[in-house]
Amino acid sequence: MKINQHYLQLETSYLFTMIGKKVAAFQEQHPDVSIIRLGIGDVTLPLCPAVVQALESASKEMGTAETFHGYGPEQGYDFLKGKIAGYYAERNVMLEEDEIFVSDGAKSDLGNILDLFDADNTVLVPDPVYPVYVDTNIMAGRRIIFANADASNGFLPLPDEKTDADIIYICSPNNPTGAVYDHAGLKEWVEYAKKRDAVILFDAAYESFVADPTLPRSIYEVEGAKEVAIEFCSFSKTAGFTGTRCGYTIVPKALVRGGVMLNSLWLRRQTTKFNGVPYIIQRGAEAVFSEEGRRQTLANIDYYRQNARILADTLDRLGIRYTGGKNSPYIWMECPNGMKSWDFFDYLLENAGVVGTPGAGFGANGEGYFRLTAFNNHQNTAEAAKRIEKLLGGCSK
Ligand code: PLP
Repeated sequence: MKINQHYLQLETSYLFTMIGKKVAAFQEQHPDVSIIRLGIGDVTLPLCPAVVQALESASKEMGTAETFHGYGPEQGYDFLKGKIAGYYAERNVMLEEDEIFVSDGAKSDLGNILDLFDADNTVLVPDPVYPVYVDTNIMAGRRIIFANADASNGFLPLPDEKTDADIIYICSPNNPTGAVYDHAGLKEWVEYAKKRDAVILFDAAYESFVADPTLPRSIYEVEGAKEVAIEFCSFSKTAGFTGTRCGYTIVPKALVRGGVMLNSLWLRRQTTKFNGVPYIIQRGAEAVFSEEGRRQTLANIDYYRQNARILADTLDRLGIRYTGGKNSPYIWMECPNGMKSWDFFDYLLENAGVVGTPGAGFGANGEGYFRLTAFNNHQNTAEAAKRIEKLLGGCSK
């Protein structure tokens, strides 16, 4: 028996462990300081009433023989796929229901999709970015190259004709930088992928935070994208499903590589290795698209947007450069005075009792940056902003 040696090449995931340890040590030494966490990537508002009601009534259905549901279709129930298709149609993206695959969240599918690709592909990952893309490819032993995201390109790298990649990750709105591609940027990637016969894995987990109507929420808003891209989305941040688990992946039938529809391969993979999302949860997700559900989830997103505005306004007053915060729950700020990410983490914790995430944890280009999230409540966010302003107000940038 030989283990998968590639697992030994993974770096110990120390980012959130390290943050936890530092915060715990500080709290022990300063029990009277109230620490405010703006480092979390989890939502804090509860599920909206329309979703809760749908979960309750679906649970009751499960207790009666006539309405009980056992194994469902692996790809998701039609009632939910129909609603997802309708949501895309509002933006003139027409999807067939069998191009939509309901899942237990974007993270699983982002990892599982790699089953479809040979280990001998080169993967292009933006730096900095959500660490799952890198780790899942290390596990499979794939060659990884990086697309530099930095202040010079607004943290939105564009294709470089010299780079030869087979699989390309794009996350927009981006975690951690909050940067969002416009149509022109995505079009460049679509054309690049088409030229190289590459596949784009487009992570749209934060699409519902896009407030600017001119910005794309889906890569399929760009012409020709169905021939090159798979899109991953989630109810986690849209509707607070981080603990309820539901998402979806779109594999267009127009996406053909090596003479094979990736849609057929993904269906084969899912029907073999996945037995679907619980009926109750899918009913809850369906309620997100009801009139009430839409209104209630939008109100929650708006609540987080207001938090982002509080933080962004503070940084504006301080003259600190940042990306994100307008079409994203993340604010990616430059550490003041050329401080390194972890030094700024310590400085902010020790002098303001505010916790964020050091940018260096998201890739080499994250050094010197810091991520703040809008997912805390108004009161804590306003208090954290006040403390940050007080602390950094005296700093020369
Ligand atoms: N994609 C990005 C960019 C994320 O930041 C996250 C979670 O934080 C996910 C995917 C995972 O989403 P899910 O909860 O649907 O697994």
